[in-house]
Amino acid sequence: MTDRFAVTADMMTVADALARLEARLAPAVAAEELRLHDALGRILAEDVVSAANVPPHDNSAVDGWAFRRADLPADGCLPVVGRVAAGHPLDGPLPKGGAVRIFTGAPLPEGADTVAMQEDCRDQGQSVVLPIRLAEGDNARSAGEDISRGSVVLHAGSRLRPQELGVAAATGRASVKVYRRLKAAVFSTGDEIRDPGTELPPGCIYDTNRFTAAGLLRALGAEVTDLGILPDRFETIKAALAEAAASHQLILTSGGVSVGDEDHVKPAVLAQGSLDFWRLAIKPGRPVALGEVAGTPFVGLPGNPVAVMVTFMLIARPMVLRLMGAARSDLPRYPVEAGFAFRHKPGRREYLRARLAHMDGRLVAAKFPSDGSGVLTSMTWSDGLVDIPEERGDIAPGEMVDFLSYADMMR
Ligand code: AMP
Ligand code: MG
Repeated sequence: MTDRFAVTADMMTVADALARLEARLAPAVAAEELRLHDALGRILAEDVVSAANVPPHDNSAVDGWAFRRADLPADGCLPVVGRVAAGHPLDGPLPKGGAVRIFTGAPLPEGADTVAMQEDCRDQGQSVVLPIRLAEGDNARSAGEDISRGSVVLHAGSRLRPQELGVAAATGRASVKVYRRLKAAVFSTGDEIRDPGTELPPGCIYDTNRFTAAGLLRALGAEVTDLGILPDRFETIKAALAEAAASHQLILTSGGVSVGDEDHVKPAVLAQGSLDFWRLAIKPGRPVALGEVAGTPFVGLPGNPVAVMVTFMLIARPMVLRLMGAARSDLPRYPVEAGFAFRHKPGRREYLRARLAHMDGRLVAAKFPSDGSGVLTSMTWSDGLVDIPEERGDIAPGEMVDFLSYADMMR
């Protein structure tokens, strides 16, 4: 079995980890053709090349009169020789020296090059007085001005938002080739973990991570199979992994991958694949286990629920997007003012849970009061993470910092 996640570095930077993932993973899903209405949120598996000019014909940008600028006399008066509405072109070219009544989106008759807005004209019935200050081409839109036939309008690997569906439709496409949804299996491990809705025996806690992890995967467009909570038993975990690998393209779990005696995920993965521990130079953070089970990529996130979210966003998200066929997974970085002081020892990249607020027209990040990585509600309190780079020193209030939004991380 090849060990595609093998590492030699002791600690790696986030940038390093992302470069490695990029190099070692390829899309794991096949493509299918979907009608536009069914394709929302999917990743495009082809470049969409426009078969048409958009707009398909020269047309009017306003309601008014269309004419040839060179025909306009000094008094601005032209005879009205016809009428064109959207979807109803003029039968033949514009007669020389005439104007036609025209409406927004209606095709410009051949020979017309300029449109006067009706608000600027005097309608005299048989004739119209047009403003003479207009320049040739005013209020006229050219065929192909938006999209020219043969150009790539949408790129493979991009996510189909409502506006991408609209652009595909404008070029005449009724369906597009998209990647199938990634099938991901999720489970939690630990004899102390219990399902919400059941009684909580002494010493036990409710499962948090399975819901967060499944939610994150679903937000990215994956199809999630919930394998529930597995007890700390080697045979059970091994069998569950084998079954998941057979019908999924990703297995994601949390907890059970440290070196404690009760951590059985590691040997269960190793019995049928490979496993490597990536130690990221980040705070909060624990090692992330990356490997494969019978060829299916496996990610083992830490057990701590805050670390689950942070490591998901930094490592699992780009991994999932790559497996899904997405071309990009980089996040927008918003420069905001720090609304707090923070001591940062250079070396580790640090992610602070933060919330944004407007203050006198500036966008300011407030930090969650506690840095403890065990506080679950810090994640619901915050809107995203302030990213403190490895080399940065202490931060004083008012200094600029980069903010990463949860909203961006979930797409
Ligand atoms: P472990 O890596 O299994 O030793 O787990 C580390 C810590 O995270 C322990 O305190 C676990 O109880 C906790 N933990 C592990 N899995 C979960 C889970 N699914 N939900 C909530 N807490 C968890
Ligand atoms: Mg455990």
